[in-house]
Amino acid sequence: MTQQITVIRGDGIGPEIMDATLRMLDAIGAGLTYDFQLAGMAAQEETGELLPQDTLDSIEKNRIALKAPLTTPVGGGFKSLNVALRKHFDLYANVRPAISFKGSNSRYENIDLITVRENTEGAYLGEGAWTAPDDSRAESKMVVTRKGCERIVRFAFDLARRAGRKKVTVVHKANILKDVTGMFLRVAHEVAEEYDDIESNDLIVDNACMQLVMRPEQFDVIVTTNLFGDIISDLCAGLVGGLGLAPGANIGEKAAMFEAVHGSAPDIAGKGIANPCALMLGAAQMLEHLDDHDRAGRVRRAIAEVIEAGDRTTPDLGGSGTTESFTDAICERL
Ligand code: NAD
Repeated sequence: MTQQITVIRGDGIGPEIMDATLRMLDAIGAGLTYDFQLAGMAAQEETGELLPQDTLDSIEKNRIALKAPLTTPVGGGFKSLNVALRKHFDLYANVRPAISFKGSNSRYENIDLITVRENTEGAYLGEGAWTAPDDSRAESKMVVTRKGCERIVRFAFDLARRAGRKKVTVVHKANILKDVTGMFLRVAHEVAEEYDDIESNDLIVDNACMQLVMRPEQFDVIVTTNLFGDIISDLCAGLVGGLGLAPGANIGEKAAMFEAVHGSAPDIAGKGIANPCALMLGAAQMLEHLDDHDRAGRVRRAIAEVIEAGDRTTPDLGGSGTTESFTDAICERL
């Protein structure tokens, strides 16, 4: 049966890297049909709204979205559209793999880890945040729930089991933030007991950051709260050569959305030199989510081979190729 997915071509370099990614998905015979919808500046120009109802309805119907980066207008009280989408569909698990590619400009080899970040609670809830009118004091609040902690930790262990991974590391700051991340750690210990086939350990976030830089190969799956996950997953993207190779999935019970971690790169938009790999790797995560592990593996292998060969990659990876030549090279190796 053909699977229909919602496709958001996005802003800036979005349309360029989305076209490349859809070309790759067609070349590998992924058997998908595309329901094109608007969001971001492109949507505002055409419909007057940044996140039209038709787009939300399409994601609700298809349950899978592939999304290129969106530009959030500066000022005017606009909230991040990505945060709005996560909230609307309760996409509680942000899954961000970081895999070394030979030939990328990273100092590390053999990194293959996944950060699972809680996406809906913690420091990013915005509830009760407050700045005094005279600007002398500001307050933010962190909130976690037992249900929220439980479902993200269980998600991480289930993912580890499905993906044949060996270890889950729980990252926290329960020594200082005793209530909020204390609950996260307590619940994580309880859930870990249900998974005796998966090794688990826990690390305080500062130590985890140091260990990631010193010996990243010791990590397999990391699960953590919203703020720590945001920072750690970018740190991991840096370890494997930067945002041009970093995909992310936002997964909930009702829907899942796959994307590149980077933004709309207005400085290079329209120049034909955007690196399409992050969105393509997001598409590989999507194929995995659809249980098409064979094609997901082939996409990753083809990208790895082209990066290692080096000559047809985009300038951010040190090559002199274009989005098009990079995509051609990947499609040839699928
Ligand atoms: P950015 O990620 O767009 O760009 C940062 C730098 O990385 C730029 O120099 C850019 O040229 C480069 N870069 C990014 N992706 C690249 C790629 N695929 N190939 C080659 N080079 C690449 O970050 P920014 O400039 O801070 O943000 C620009 C806009 O994107 C803002 O409006 C921001 O709100 C939005 N944004 C969207 C998302 C998203 O939709 N997921 C994420 C982050 C930022």
